[in-house]
Amino acid sequence: MNKYWVVANWKLNNTYSTAEEWLRFFYDTYTPSDRISVGIAPSFTELGLVSHTVKRNADLPVQIMAQDVSRFNVGKYTGEVGAFQLLEHGVSHCIVGHSERRQYFNESNDVINEKIERLLNYDITPLIAVSEIEQVQSVCEKGFDLSRLTWAYEPISAIGTGNPADPHVVASFLKSMNHLVGEDAYILYGGSVTAETVKPYLAFEQVDGFLVGGASVKANEFIDLLHSIL
Ligand code: PEP
Repeated sequence: MNKYWVVANWKLNNTYSTAEEWLRFFYDTYTPSDRISVGIAPSFTELGLVSHTVKRNADLPVQIMAQDVSRFNVGKYTGEVGAFQLLEHGVSHCIVGHSERRQYFNESNDVINEKIERLLNYDITPLIAVSEIEQVQSVCEKGFDLSRLTWAYEPISAIGTGNPADPHVVASFLKSMNHLVGEDAYILYGGSVTAETVKPYLAFEQVDGFLVGGASVKANEFIDLLHSIL
């Protein structure tokens, strides 16, 4: 039976105070399961809060994640947040290559590969979001140690649209990804996953978990989703 990894990508949502409420509700309400590993990727402004709260509640392990990282290491790059800064917050994984970064910030495959390299230099695991096989190939061609990478397949038509992708199509894409990234690679599915839409994906062994946007912003919706996976 799969152990599912479920990641809350808050995107540009939540403030310090709504994040406090989110975390309080989460720790009060979520019934943990051995079959689920939870990750939270807040904005940088809430990273310290998430990090402190997760560390204080160590009996319910949660992975502290980031939504992005600078392609630069350190120095004169106003507004950037570097991998070494994420490390001090206990960040274990960082999303890179999200289609919103590609679309709104013109991030190319080259930029994404630079970010992956930065993260690996600090032992932070990249969670690489892809929507096309060509994007997977571009990462694989760089010669990274594939055992240090994790992935999320997120078809553009499914992200934030309320139209989750057909689970058969997802499973077949993940199979073709496995040929490139290895059978043991962790690959999540992302795209309009909610408590109502998640069930059909659980029938496919290729799906190792879910990257969740919209349904993670409110703690009760995220917890409903987690509970519906059990
Ligand atoms: C995402 O953007 O990573 C995502 C999966 O969003 P949503 O769940 O809202 O489709």
